[in-house]
Amino acid sequence: MAVLDILTIPDERLKRKARPVENIDDVQAFIDDLLETMYDTEDGIGLAATQVGSQHAILVIDLSEDRDQPQVLINPEIVSSDGDFVGEEGCLSIPGYRAKVSRSEKVTVKALDRTGQAFEIETDTFLAIVLQHEMDHLNGIVFTDHLSKLKQQIALKKVKKNR
Ligand SMILES: [Zn+2]
Repeated sequence: MAVLDILTIPDERLKRKARPVENIDDVQAFIDDLLETMYDTEDGIGLAATQVGSQHAILVIDLSEDRDQPQVLINPEIVSSDGDFVGEEGCLSIPGYRAKVSRSEKVTVKALDRTGQAFEIETDTFLAIVLQHEMDHLNGIVFTDHLSKLKQQIALKKVKKNR
């Protein structure tokens, strides 16, 4: 296993769209690396393959207190969404910056687990926000893309200062 480098804005690779995984076996080692990379961060609760420069449609999430309950989503898709919710978000690719983002309150997401088994998550908890944030990454979108140009400039300045 290996801890991978996490890309930060304005890296152009964060704008690439992920491609569906075709062979589950081919990505097992990568999933281990993605998990190790997330756990290596101080407070990372989710990480998309896009953030480490990969175009696999894979994301990992762990919202548990002890960080011992990883969720792996391969080829995730939002099946339905409902309601509105505004909450503060941060991102490992935009260190040092947090802002309020408007999202759907409730989502249903379908994906494959790391054994290739299809499953569905229906949630209106914090997980719904994390899922939307991470799935945005797979579409080449970071959370500041949802904000004003002014806020995007502030975010970029913070990231450059923190580097
Ligand atoms: Zn992020």
